[in-house]
Amino acid sequence: MKEKSMKDKPALSIIIPVYNEEATIPEMYRRLNLAVSTITEDYEFVFVNDGSRDGSLVQLIRLTEMDKRVFYINFSRNFGHQIAVTAGLDACNGDAVVIIDGDLQDPPEVIPELYKKYKEGFEVVYGKRSDRAGESIFKKMTAKWFYRILKNLTSIDIPLDTGDFRLVDRKIVDYLKQMPEQNKFLRGQIAWLGFNQTDVMFSRDKRQHGETGYPFSKMLKFALDGITSFSDKPLSLVTKLGFTISLISFLIILYATYAHFVLDRTITGWTSLIISSMFIGGVQLISIGIIGEYISRMNKNTINRPLYIVESSNME
Ligand code: UDP
Ligand code: MG
Repeated sequence: MKEKSMKDKPALSIIIPVYNEEATIPEMYRRLNLAVSTITEDYEFVFVNDGSRDGSLVQLIRLTEMDKRVFYINFSRNFGHQIAVTAGLDACNGDAVVIIDGDLQDPPEVIPELYKKYKEGFEVVYGKRSDRAGESIFKKMTAKWFYRILKNLTSIDIPLDTGDFRLVDRKIVDYLKQMPEQNKFLRGQIAWLGFNQTDVMFSRDKRQHGETGYPFSKMLKFALDGITSFSDKPLSLVTKLGFTISLISFLIILYATYAHFVLDRTITGWTSLIISSMFIGGVQLISIGIIGEYISRMNKNTINRPLYIVESSNME
């Protein structure tokens, strides 16, 4: 009995979201094993297969047969990286939990450093990227600007240049489970929780195999999730924009009336009309779009579907 409860609550859980990583999984497992063994033998690996279309699942099942500290959760389809990590957080049992990408861009060798800080008493230890090898200038630029914009929009302190590679205490995991939002932005949620947070610098490697599972469309959605769940400023911006444009319009109305009746000098022509109507049209559509982003997220939360569907797993 005692042995079972020991087994149920390992010292360390590692959560690895996997989307089309068949070529990386064996190497990932090997390097994780080497790195984590230097800390403790009492660990579990939780791989979440997020609807991979390659042989990732076969690789994972093979690992679970080889090593009983390896677990897998297999989604019924692709639900996205944040949801895959969430499923891992829901299922894992460790006192400390590490979230790491399955493509070896976050080096497993950094985990002992994260763990050292955790032992010093930090509840959250995130990996901070000192540089990012092999990523496009476009990706680096958009990521850089996104985090800086987000910092200006929100009052919470989301650390710059960090991804989800981090170690969190069990306490944090339990609080995250009480945050049921459908549009996950985990790094924001964790920052929002507070406690003692610190970072460990590391240099992010380039992807060894396959290609990114974050094309521009997914990045944009992720960015909007981050902004809408942590800031109302875009909404007040819409209001301010409305007032400003109304004020300008009012002045133009005064001038136009004056020009027509007093100066008898009405400006003729199509140009001024088309410019102003197109401008207002654009502003209105953008404003409705911004409001729509918030409403669609409210809608998702009201419908309140399960976040993910597990097709198969070797965890109970
Ligand atoms: N991933 C996932 N579901 C997705 C996309 C990605 O589980 O829909 C996983 C992927 O296998 C990797 C991690 O999330 O382990 C980070 O994704 P990726 O490397 O594609 O993102 P990038 O590093 O390019 O930002
Ligand atoms: Mg990657």
